[in-house]
Amino acid sequence: MPMLKVSHITKTFGGLKALDDLSFSVEKGEIYSVIGPNGAGKSTLFNCINSIYTPENGTISYKGEEITNLSSNGVASLGIARTFQNIELFSRLTTMENLMLGRHLHMKTGLLASASMWWRGSKAAQEEIKHREKVEEIIDILDLQAYRDKFVSQLPYGIQKMVELGRALCMEPDLLLLDEPAAGLNNEEREDLIFWIRDIRDEFGITVVMIEHNMQMVVDISDRILVINFGKKLAEGLPEEVINHQEVINAYLGQP
Ligand code: ADP
Ligand code: MG
Repeated sequence: MPMLKVSHITKTFGGLKALDDLSFSVEKGEIYSVIGPNGAGKSTLFNCINSIYTPENGTISYKGEEITNLSSNGVASLGIARTFQNIELFSRLTTMENLMLGRHLHMKTGLLASASMWWRGSKAAQEEIKHREKVEEIIDILDLQAYRDKFVSQLPYGIQKMVELGRALCMEPDLLLLDEPAAGLNNEEREDLIFWIRDIRDEFGITVVMIEHNMQMVVDISDRILVINFGKKLAEGLPEEVINHQEVINAYLGQP
């Protein structure tokens, strides 16, 4: 059974078909990349998977269970986390606080209860300590110690991207959706990111679906690549198959 199965989904905006009868599957443990020109429908695809949008046609299944009509929270609580093309963090909160928000799906007592720990030793306090430990672990893994108590708005762009990745990991997902994780990163940051993404898959067994424009990175780390154009599948396969595919070269790789 595939980890993620997208079957014949169509999503339109006005007269525009952002996704047009698109189908593909991702196996557990894969690093699967989605590439295509700007406006091809890549972010819309992620928005359909995590139920920001509902496709007009087609279905999306996760571990064999249909998730097409769940809420975004419902999808997240099944273990699908994501990062966004434009970073979505709380800029007036610290790194630590943003990561703690990533934990809220796991908090039985809820954020308010843990925020008002007037009774030391209460259940909420114990839970908060457990969550802090998990967050500290992610901070260590991603080397974010120096930024733990800094406001996100004060952090360089590349670090904000890592905090967003950290927040997604704090949800302890089985499937991670990364929308252009390397955009705006310098070479060194991109090298680090490639290392983390491999590590996330190898050490935690998390399946990764990644939208990315940096072809070298895509070819380096992907097990398979899906190419979409005008919301349709143009090609799918191993990296070397896809980069040598004539239609892909014409539609995408040939662009200046
Ligand atoms: P990509 O991520 O591949 O660059 P998108 O999925 O963001 O592309 O967009 C695909 C197409 O759908 C584009 O033409 C875009 O303008 C359109 N689109 C995306 N979201 C919306 C929306 N909320 N309302 C109207 N049009 C949208
Ligand atoms: Mg996009």
